[in-house]
Amino acid sequence: MVRLITHNMLACHVKNCTKDNFPLSFSDVELVVRPAPENLEFIQRFLPKLDWSALVDTARSLGDESLPEQMPDQWTEEQLKALHHVLMELHVEEGNMTCRGCGHVYPISNGIPNMLLAEHEVGR
Ligand SMILES: [Zn+2]
Repeated sequence: MVRLITHNMLACHVKNCTKDNFPLSFSDVELVVRPAPENLEFIQRFLPKLDWSALVDTARSLGDESLPEQMPDQWTEEQLKALHHVLMELHVEEGNMTCRGCGHVYPISNGIPNMLLAEHEVGR
């Protein structure tokens, strides 16, 4: 399953692709919402690991406008709940993730991202 908490960690790994290789852009997405147990402490601990602007842009590209442009300094419970929803409950079941740098397309099928590369795209 591709949740935004995972997507926020994914960069293109085609060899020599180092520019604009994050975040991957979603397209043709089929989105499913699955309620997940709320663990706001976990969400709070995860904050330093997030690339906030990538997360906000990605959530907006999927039609979720609940996150503020700037990461709040002081979080309200309401805001943490919105973040929990975006990170943990939005699942991309089908679609594509495209690298803005090299154009490589990582397809998602049945919730599984295909991160494999063709022979010529692998580094070494
Ligand atoms: Zn790339």
